[in-house]
Amino acid sequence: MTATAHVVGAGLAGLSAALALAQAGWRVTVWEMARQAGGRCRSYEDAKLGCRIDNGNHLVLSGNRSTLAYLARAGAPDALVMAPAARFPFVDLASGERWVVHINDGPLPWWPLRASRRPAGVGLGAVLSSLPLLWADRDATIAEAVRASGPAHARFWEPMSLAVMNLPPALASARLMRATVFEAWRDGRLARPMFAAHGLGAALVDPALAALRRAGADVRFGAQVRGLRVEGGRVAGLAAAGEDIPLGPRDAVVLAVPPARLNALFPAARAPEESSSILNAHFRLAAPVAGPPLLGVTGARTQWIFVKGEVVSLTISAAGFVEGADAEEEALLALLWAETRAALGLADSLRPLAARLVHERRATFLQTPANVRRRARALTGLANLVLAGDHIATGLPATIEGAVRSGETAARLLGRPGAEAGAASGSGR
Ligand SMILES: Cc1cc2nc3c(=O)[nH]c(=O)nc-3n(C[C@H](O)[C@H](O)[C@H](O)COP(=O)(O)OP(=O)(O)OC[C@H]3O[C@@H](n4cnc5c(N)ncnc54)[C@H](O)[C@@H]3O)c2cc1C
Repeated sequence: MTATAHVVGAGLAGLSAALALAQAGWRVTVWEMARQAGGRCRSYEDAKLGCRIDNGNHLVLSGNRSTLAYLARAGAPDALVMAPAARFPFVDLASGERWVVHINDGPLPWWPLRASRRPAGVGLGAVLSSLPLLWADRDATIAEAVRASGPAHARFWEPMSLAVMNLPPALASARLMRATVFEAWRDGRLARPMFAAHGLGAALVDPALAALRRAGADVRFGAQVRGLRVEGGRVAGLAAAGEDIPLGPRDAVVLAVPPARLNALFPAARAPEESSSILNAHFRLAAPVAGPPLLGVTGARTQWIFVKGEVVSLTISAAGFVEGADAEEEALLALLWAETRAALGLADSLRPLAARLVHERRATFLQTPANVRRRARALTGLANLVLAGDHIATGLPATIEGAVRSGETAARLLGRPGAEAGAASGSGR
């Protein structure tokens, strides 16, 4: 009988691991405590808005190679629609200025040399003073590495740091930001935004679940794993769904759960639990709104606006560090709607039919240099246990790409059914 891989958590890291393991010949059981898959990246029917929404806007870039490979593995390579160019329109609501950051195609990133492709008011000197990001040491924050001030700070590094790291530049790890620059921003062909036309669930979750079902995997919802039984340097059983599930000698476990849950199940991981939140406001309108699918905003509380037909959603990353983001819900929604109207040039009289705030308090782990150094590695001291999740040491920020890559890596470390974890690659990453 073939060995079983038990994947705990059906977020993108768990789904990615489960798909790759099923393809490698494992029998797969997925344990998910929630009633649905997707974790922090999910769609759901919202009663107040009367439609299906994503918990929060998610930006994926064309250079996110693990995410694209995951979609291909799930049989849905076209689930995300790529924009024709790496163009990022912005508006500054304080001054009314508008500009487009336009990253050129090709391996030589010459776009910052052209004023028309940089944020308004950012000179060549500011571009040059950003170069030290490329050799930043592991203790440096983005602010320490790039020493940006004025418009270069407010119109480039702050929006990038908030979007990618979910932290302001004064706190965020420069090394992790650099990884993103290398993976995507150096070449416009890799930095094109990818959009989920019918929501995150339809694009990133449902195809993976369907592929797992086709492969005969057993995906259980409402099934929390509450403990691991460890014997002889291996996981010998799982406490799940009120039972002790014994593991065979060739069975393995992938823990793809967020830091606090991981530490509760496997304290040796000592994953950093401090986190940073993300606030999303969703407005439902009577008719579709005209506007770019994605608009960056500075000089306001709003940071990004996503236009999706008659739903307009905006994002405030690192909300715990944004003044006023903790205001009372109705007042905050009114303020954010006023910002949205101004940014999109909508009539003052236009009112949403309904509005909703979704505050994800533990959106990502706090990606400071100190916490990044403490990220747990995928391989553990137990022969048949590996870890996955956006907080694992992938070298990438806590993003969809990081989560999916961690799942891929976990599956690679387990190799073919029956091998010892790590025997396939001999690496902890
Ligand atoms: C509002 C918001 C906006 C974001 N924007 C972006 C973006 O623009 N671009 C981007 O790339 N990333 C973005 N992210 C980050 C991205 O969503 C995450 O990095 C990614 O989804 C994490 O996936 P994961 O599988 O590691 O963890 P999770 O999604 O947290 O999945 C873990 C799963 O494990 C389950 N679980 C936990 N404990 C147990 C247990 N004991 N037993 C069984 N199941 C358990 C949970 O229910 C959950 O389903 C955003 C996140 C948020 C919240």
